[in-house]
Amino acid sequence: MMSDSKENQSQKNAIPANKGVSVVSEAVCQQVMGRADAFTAVENVFSAMAKNTAYNFPVIREAIGHADALYGFKSGFDRDGMVLGLKSGGYWPGNVQKDLTNHQSTVILFNPDTGQLRSLVGGNYLTAVRTAASSAVSIAHLARKDSKVLGMVGAGHQSTFQLRAAVEQRDFEKIVCWNFHPEQIPKLAAVAKELGLPFESVTREALCAQADVIITITSAFEALIEKDWIKPGTHIACMGTDTVGKQEVDAKLLSVAKVFTDELAQSITLGEAQHAIAQKLIQQSDIVPIGEVINGTKAGRTSAEEITLFDGTGVGLQDLAVASVAAELAEAKGQATYFTL
Ligand code: NAD
Repeated sequence: MMSDSKENQSQKNAIPANKGVSVVSEAVCQQVMGRADAFTAVENVFSAMAKNTAYNFPVIREAIGHADALYGFKSGFDRDGMVLGLKSGGYWPGNVQKDLTNHQSTVILFNPDTGQLRSLVGGNYLTAVRTAASSAVSIAHLARKDSKVLGMVGAGHQSTFQLRAAVEQRDFEKIVCWNFHPEQIPKLAAVAKELGLPFESVTREALCAQADVIITITSAFEALIEKDWIKPGTHIACMGTDTVGKQEVDAKLLSVAKVFTDELAQSITLGEAQHAIAQKLIQQSDIVPIGEVINGTKAGRTSAEEITLFDGTGVGLQDLAVASVAAELAEAKGQATYFTL
């Protein structure tokens, strides 16, 4: 017997006979999907993952031997939210010459009751929004309430989304930033200015000495932050490491921090924890899924001195969660288009 909410969710996924499959463009996603909705969708799906009512299926990622592209898909099913589908796409390095984003993705949603195609949703903007929501959820649950300085390590495409979502979680008074490519920093500084926050470009060590919360969002393959630079009470969201071999912080930092993640399986294999695990500095049992903290089944931060580290690896269920909300909002506002197969 389905609960009321499940019946409602099933109704939501049903395809209206006169409409067909909804299409939600990148432009419409930008119009309908706000940070608050993304935060709630991501927090809910992390909670469902910890309750084992939402599952990510094995990720496929392959070099296709054409255009230097890496193609793949991430799929899953959220039984609480009744969201089934996949995000497909990848990385096409030559796109920049074609005036296209290098990262390309599309979300395909299915009706979990019938298997029918339900929606096609642009995934590029939503990827940035859901990744920013993930670190924001970690800040909301793990950072000290009195955090005042936000440190941004990275100033690429994702960084502006990260900054906007993070500053909504605490009363930050200042942003400090370091980036491998200094020429990218003014774009992030402009967002801080728009948000009315002082912004300073500093060395990595100076950043760690000042910041109460640090977000790392780079494509680095070696540690950018040393263990001994981090002051007590800091919260670090490591968001860039989503592939085997990538690394943003000293592996030894994970042995002195309390480590949290979106998904354990990814954290230990392709997330920031992969190095500490490989070097036997920590064990899998030392890492807490953040959904457990959201659900109240495991403790989050327990003291003002504790260093907390969130290993945000990025899971397909996050994409499906925000795409499902975007589709609902676009349909409700008359901004989706439709086709039948
Ligand atoms: P981008 O190409 O726009 O920016 C790359 C960033 O990494 C820039 O700040 C650049 O200066 C920095 N960088 C490049 N090489 C470096 C090096 N050797 N050392 C230190 N810094 C270096 O990319 P983006 O879209 O902003 O994505 C940043 C990272 O986030 C990527 O690694 C991407 O795979 C990852 N990502 C993670 C998730 C997730 O869910 N965890 C989601 C999206 C992207």
